[in-house]
Amino acid sequence: MANLWEILMQYEYKTFNSLSEILDYTKDYPVIMDCFLKTSNIIEKFKKPVCSISGGKDSDIMLDIITKVDIQHKVMYVWFDTGIEYQATKNHLDYLERRYNIKIHREKAIKPIPSACKEYGYPFVSKHISEMMYRLQKHNFQWENESFESLISKYPKCKSALQWWTNHKQDTNKGYSQFNINYNKYLKEFIVLNPPKFKISSKCCDYAKKKVAHNYENSNDCDLSIIGIRKSEGGVRATAYKNCFSENDNKISQYRPLFWLTDEDERNYDNLFNIVHSDCYTVYGLKRTGCVGCPYGKELSNEMAIMEQYEPKLSKAANNIFKDSYEYTKKYRQFVADMKANKGGDNIAKND
Ligand code: SF4
Repeated sequence: MANLWEILMQYEYKTFNSLSEILDYTKDYPVIMDCFLKTSNIIEKFKKPVCSISGGKDSDIMLDIITKVDIQHKVMYVWFDTGIEYQATKNHLDYLERRYNIKIHREKAIKPIPSACKEYGYPFVSKHISEMMYRLQKHNFQWENESFESLISKYPKCKSALQWWTNHKQDTNKGYSQFNINYNKYLKEFIVLNPPKFKISSKCCDYAKKKVAHNYENSNDCDLSIIGIRKSEGGVRATAYKNCFSENDNKISQYRPLFWLTDEDERNYDNLFNIVHSDCYTVYGLKRTGCVGCPYGKELSNEMAIMEQYEPKLSKAANNIFKDSYEYTKKYRQFVADMKANKGGDNIAKND
């Protein structure tokens, strides 16, 4: 029986002799074609680019593009091992190394996720929410439902988190700013009635990824960091950027090759270049990879059921680490469901 490698390697890896051949091959897909052109030009300009590989779908496409245009083999590849990663992701990294004949450096977290969470707090719903709640908790905020003016006089060093809490940020023309708490339905009402009894923070990402990336880039004298953010993924992370490239003469520049690609462009890319994604998607049926059971996951309960089925040991670990956050998230989701079903009054009465 053929082993996994033999099966995966049967997928044709398209090779090209020149950039113009690639451009010709992708001429019916202008966004993809443009992506190759830009990536080639940018890599050409830098001496020591480093590309962050996650093992996820976007990262697979980014890697395929780079390996096709990096004719001088300048780009280094790094994966940040947060300590709670799917075995399927690790297997996929091995596959990528063989498919592209590259080395993906594995870098461990500066602080393991359980210690970072214990020290700073646990992720809850999203990075931005966790950061705002962390700042409020640091000032011993009592989750009062009062005006910004009244709260800023009580907590004078907490301006931007209070702006979030009181919906003080300029709304977008859609009516809601993602930097206001009302961007997440009924979140404020929920917190006022159920103040968190545990610390909340987004710091585990800093110690498992962000600071690790900075250390890696600095210690390897990198001048370009390549990451897989797409504009269409939305959220605070993607909207922080206006385009695909941030040039920085004094520090490390950043390039986001997939920035303009939509989901449809990515599907087209997969078909054009026979991209094979990790078992996390194709076998487990997950919609995202990364840390197992991260509380930011939009489909957390589905993900937890999948974890339990395919990676039970990791499932147990995630349930231990994020227990408080999971319970609080579950309670919040139920609150939203009740409010939507017009049981809001009952809910508020119960909690009073
Ligand atoms: S992805 Fe989630 S669990 Fe992983 S480091 Fe970031 S916040 Fe923590």
